Amino acid sequence: MSQTLRVAILGAGTVGTEVIRLLHEQGADLTERTGAELKIVGIAVRDADAPRDPIIDPALITDDPASLVGRADLVVELMGGIDPARELVLDAINAGASVVTANKALLAAHGPQLYEAAAARGVDIYYEAAAAGAVPVVRGVRESLAGDRINRIIGIVNGTTNYILDEMTHGGIGFEEALAQAQQLGFAEADPTADVDGHDAAAKIAILSSMAFHTRINIDDVPVEGIRAISAADVATAAESGHVIKLLAIAERRVDDQGREGIALRVYPALLSTDHPLATVRGAFNGVLIEAQAAGELMFYGQGAGGAPTASAVLGDVVSAARNRVSGGRGPQETSYAQLPVLDPGLVATQYQLRLLVADQPGVLAKVAGTFGEHGVSIQTVRQSQLPPTEGPAEIVLITHRAPEAALAATTEALAGLSSVQGLLAVTRVEDH
Ligand code: NAP
Repeated sequence: MSQTLRVAILGAGTVGTEVIRLLHEQGADLTERTGAELKIVGIAVRDADAPRDPIIDPALITDDPASLVGRADLVVELMGGIDPARELVLDAINAGASVVTANKALLAAHGPQLYEAAAARGVDIYYEAAAAGAVPVVRGVRESLAGDRINRIIGIVNGTTNYILDEMTHGGIGFEEALAQAQQLGFAEADPTADVDGHDAAAKIAILSSMAFHTRINIDDVPVEGIRAISAADVATAAESGHVIKLLAIAERRVDDQGREGIALRVYPALLSTDHPLATVRGAFNGVLIEAQAAGELMFYGQGAGGAPTASAVLGDVVSAARNRVSGGRGPQETSYAQLPVLDPGLVATQYQLRLLVADQPGVLAKVAGTFGEHGVSIQTVRQSQLPPTEGPAEIVLITHRAPEAALAATTEALAGLSSVQGLLAVTRVEDH
């Protein structure tokens, strides 16, 4: 006869409700797969009297999560936010329960503390849904690539911003209109700050890069720029040169000017060539490209959010944690033995596209090019934009070779001082390799 594992669910919102549904619908199969009956012993919510999906047994509802975590073998944390989730997860670990969480905000800020607590207590902490929803990239990094050396992670890990940029690219609309559309369709929250300002993507790349580079990386280590400043003209200009604009989360090994290896991190909107694998990630989907020394390039793709897709990733973790408890083993553990330094973002070189309004007269291009040269920034291409207006100042579009941010900042400051430069319309990074 199989044993029974007591499961506590903290949170019965978008994800929690779908996790409970899957546990009910697939209960018999899950018992076969894990060797244990997964019995829900309680469901913690904030408002115990709020109406719930009929799949939820009202007798299991409690608004006292603290008392619930002490009487479970598996705690599934789906409430979100940092407090009280952090205390509850620590209490669960200290009480000897294994934990599954989808909480990216919690892990990006306090992951190492929780991983160490789990290791000390000899229990598991799984978090597949915290990085890219249903896309199994955490398992890919933590297990499949555990024997390889990961050099770079570049991903579209926020579906809301990808939907907005995709609508701007293919629907020809502006940011505000695309955001309103995303909100109407349920792809964006009423308060879209965490998504459009890049914080959600920063949390996810902090979680992935900590694992990939065996280094403690916190969300505060990730410089972030969101997509609010991207205009319809930026998107149209990108299209003229065969590019799309995507919000990218990037973590890579780089060597700084002292020859030290470190991790360069960033979240920002950037131009990608239309034949780049991530350029094909459309709508609200996620895609993560990983470059590893032996494996080469690996692409992970799928739904990064939504109740059912996220619940699939949560259930995968529940099955892993349950199997470990049945066999008496433990799953993979985090290590931070490499402790690579996080490189100063100002010194990390990238390519840039600049849109400049210049006086339509002879000699202007030479002056502009000379200014770039004086600051050590070399120009890869320059062309005149085909966008209207066709009279008055001309719009030129330059793409630089890789240059440090500090050199680019000095260049733009000097350009602003040229009488023939009438405006710097936009500066956008280019991530073509
Ligand atoms: P949600 O719909 O807002 O649900 C949160 C649930 O937690 C609600 O049932 C809420 O209770 C409960 N809760 C919140 N604070 C609580 C407290 N202090 N005590 C007891 N219960 C509390 O959130 P969600 O979208 O399901 O997201 C859950 C987690 O999954 C978050 O960490 C999120 O980042 C992560 N995630 C979500 C998605 C997605 O697509 N939604 C994707 C990937 C990861 P009430 O129902 O009473 O308000």
